[in-house]
Amino acid sequence: MKILCLVISTSVLCAFSASAEQTPQSLADTELPSLLAIYKDIHSHPELSTKEERSSAIVAKELRAAGCEVTENFGTYDDPSWKCYGVVGVMKNGGGPTVLVRTDMDALPVQEQTGAPYASSVRMKNAYGDDVPVMHACGHDIHMSALIGTARALGKLKDKWHGTIIFVGQPAEEMGGGARAMLQAGLYDRFGKPDYAVALHDDAENEAGKIAITEGYCNANVDSVDVTVKGMGGHGAYPHKTKDPIALSAEIINAWQTIASRENNPIDPIVVTVGSIHGGTKHNIIPDEVKMQLTVRAYKSDVRDRVLAAIEQIAKGCATAAGLPPDRMPEVKVLKPEHVNAVYNNPELTKRVTAALKSAIGGENVVKKDPVMGGDDFSDFSLADHSIPACMFNVGAVDPAKAAESKKTGTPLPSLHSSKFLPVPEPTIRTGVVGMTTVVMELMKKS
Ligand SMILES: [Zn+2]
Ligand SMILES: [Zn+2]
Repeated sequence: MKILCLVISTSVLCAFSASAEQTPQSLADTELPSLLAIYKDIHSHPELSTKEERSSAIVAKELRAAGCEVTENFGTYDDPSWKCYGVVGVMKNGGGPTVLVRTDMDALPVQEQTGAPYASSVRMKNAYGDDVPVMHACGHDIHMSALIGTARALGKLKDKWHGTIIFVGQPAEEMGGGARAMLQAGLYDRFGKPDYAVALHDDAENEAGKIAITEGYCNANVDSVDVTVKGMGGHGAYPHKTKDPIALSAEIINAWQTIASRENNPIDPIVVTVGSIHGGTKHNIIPDEVKMQLTVRAYKSDVRDRVLAAIEQIAKGCATAAGLPPDRMPEVKVLKPEHVNAVYNNPELTKRVTAALKSAIGGENVVKKDPVMGGDDFSDFSLADHSIPACMFNVGAVDPAKAAESKKTGTPLPSLHSSKFLPVPEPTIRTGVVGMTTVVMELMKKS
């Protein structure tokens, strides 16, 4: 009987001290079953860019339940016929700093092949009216679940921070333009300009339980460029009576390779990729034109400007050398609405975020990540001149056993955007919630 009393009083004591000492870790553990249910629901109901109606409604409902004032359908696209499903959830807690925490919400036109019991079988019409399969192949479902968990945790830890948190559910990250749509609708005029902007992305290369982070540039400036190479078509048997845009395009593509190898300072990374080339209809006809689509990447904006200028100059130079008249010069069009700025992890802020993450999940679990030439329009929240310090960190999503097997066999793991990319949800979401909650508390702590 005495032993029983001791056991009961010990467990009461434990329960009492647990409720008195809520931490990001204890709250993440409490919320995990519910967050996992939300994750699986969102994963099996993915929505394409600009069509995030259901996902945004879930984010809005959960932010409201966590104690935020929520505004839905916030944002204006360049194309006014598109509805913007941006969500803004404001959590106020007295005077203090303002911190923006962002999740993206859109999925990709990919046929899921993960074999998960909650795999997507959804199909939707894309922007061109084509029926396509849809999958959360970039893990934005993990991001939404982690954001909801972070909001719940911070709502219960209000005695440990002060200020205003702006939770942002951003649409259309994959096609670019979602962040811009929210900013050009007056995000900062209406809800306040943040002192810091933070976000997380899941990581298909690192194990769940780890967080990887890059200081400085971590994602590139991205431009889409359409090039039309003009010629003077005719019979394939009489090339001397034509100006062949196919042969000219081949020369231009080769000459563009010298932008990286000869024109660019080697310590400034750039990419010029021709992803699409179309011209002609038949074996024996030289066509009038060839159309190409390029993706162009750089970190610094002056480097970007130089690369874009070189693309046009080289195309025109090759056309002149081929004897084309001024009115048949190639047309080079940089698609402004698709431009994405480089993500720059402010070094001072990144040091603070790294220290907070180490305290949250252990120093050995926070690793450095090399920058990549991928893009993410999270950059827009820090403004074009990076005047709002921003930081995005990467939450490992890979099953540790699979990571070890990949190391052993050399078989690469499925990358982001792969039809086989499937995060291990529990530890990934838990690490995301613990990491982000701790980071926000660090930036908003009472002095
Ligand atoms: Zn993606
Ligand atoms: Zn993504």
